[in-house]
Amino acid sequence: MPNPLYDALFAALAGRDDPLLILADGSQIAGRAFHGLIARAAGALRDQAVQPGDRVAVQISKSPEALAVYAATVSIGAIFLPLNTAYTPDELDYFLGNATPRVFLCDPAKEAALAAMASRHGAALLTLGGRGEGSLPKLMAVQAETFAPTDRAPDDLAAILYTSGTTGRSKGAMLTHRNLLSNAETLAELWRFTAADTLLHALPIFHTHGLFVASNISLLTGGKMIFLPGFEAETVLRLLPQATAMMGVPTFYTRLLDAPGLGDACKQMRLFISGSAPLLAETHVAFQAATGHRILERYGMTETNMNTSNPYDGDRRAGTVGLPLPDVDLRLMADGVEVGQGEVGMIEVRGPNVFAGYWQMPEKTREELREDGWFLTGDLATRDADGYISIVGRAKDLIITGGYNVYPKEVELLLDEAPGVLESAVIGLPHPDFGEAVFAVLTPRKGAALNPEAALATIADKLARFKQPKAAVVAAELPRNTMGKVQKNLLRADYAGWFKPKA
Ligand code: AMP
Repeated sequence: MPNPLYDALFAALAGRDDPLLILADGSQIAGRAFHGLIARAAGALRDQAVQPGDRVAVQISKSPEALAVYAATVSIGAIFLPLNTAYTPDELDYFLGNATPRVFLCDPAKEAALAAMASRHGAALLTLGGRGEGSLPKLMAVQAETFAPTDRAPDDLAAILYTSGTTGRSKGAMLTHRNLLSNAETLAELWRFTAADTLLHALPIFHTHGLFVASNISLLTGGKMIFLPGFEAETVLRLLPQATAMMGVPTFYTRLLDAPGLGDACKQMRLFISGSAPLLAETHVAFQAATGHRILERYGMTETNMNTSNPYDGDRRAGTVGLPLPDVDLRLMADGVEVGQGEVGMIEVRGPNVFAGYWQMPEKTREELREDGWFLTGDLATRDADGYISIVGRAKDLIITGGYNVYPKEVELLLDEAPGVLESAVIGLPHPDFGEAVFAVLTPRKGAALNPEAALATIADKLARFKQPKAAVVAAELPRNTMGKVQKNLLRADYAGWFKPKA
């Protein structure tokens, strides 16, 4: 009886005696033992009356047991709903109200604080801690080591992942078995993953990058994972010599570049992949100089899994996100027509990777996911003569000043070159004359004395006047979320009054 994700990702583990997971302390979990965890978690969830189609919401630390809960949930036909560990009780209240899960699994330390909320939303509250402690493991202990998965069709839902919600409320992206499996298959082939690979996995597993791109590809191809609770440069460097591949967000790479001994640790590595936020071309170049490896950058999002990737064999171009995946249609649109080469348009994608809509938000779904299958990503990009895509920013970050469009990335790339600037974020702020005015937040290189006016002066003859920031400030660092994305909404809020007339 079929269950697409169970059959492709988890079934074979029952016959694997070699290690599937290698943990930070050197201990290992064999495929067979992990399959036992899946069976026990499946039994425990079924005992809680979890039915096919029910949501199982989790806000838990990364651990082998947490990964097994993901596997168990999809294997019994339920819908896995992971939540960022940083969400506060107020935010959880919204997610539980919106998703009405049958079970909510949280850290044991939060049980008392969340019990009333879980019961108000009709969810059974279970606990699981980062060291495998809590009420769920107790329920798992009395379950059998084998189980029968539940039949599912490819278009049945496997997961709901909430978008990070930097504008408005988070939306639950409904992902089907087909969405997840097709993308894992496409990427595994493109990036040449095999059972001989050991993937260093230091990403969180509440987000599409760590949960689907990293874990699903490794599980699909029968490889091993060095499964770390989070990214810590020292631990990663210590374990990297046992790995063949790593997937990371850009901050992993900038932090590794600061760590001594990087080159030696990378000798046996086959592949470094980056995504979830833009990798600076400078980081790409510095990483190659330090290790000999050209980082492969790809682009995707919660709603679509991955859409584009630089090639494995061909030219991995710094500052681009590569070419559309073989089974993904991609077009760049402005005012209802496809833009020409080098012009900016919004990325639209269509393919088996594209989600089934937003959970209980039919209007939002209609706005962004067209009937003919095209999804409007909200990302703005250009395409060069060879078809490589370069992202210039989110549509919502586009600045319109005095009626002119300014793409922040164009200004940021020039500011990043100014002496003393480590990185920059360019945003639009309310302005009494221009509607919006261009504004730059700069961070200094280590030990550099950075003067914002001097930095702006260096780009004065390189950019049209209307694109030049009307003011700039220096900040110690840019606000980033867990996936390394700069949170421009926070910067816009912090500096909102900058150009307002003084009372
Ligand atoms: P999320 O849904 O949290 O994965 O965020 C998806 C968004 O991250 C995309 O819509 C892009 O704006 C951004 N993103 C992902 N990968 C890249 C990349 N390689 N370069 C630039 N932006 C990226």
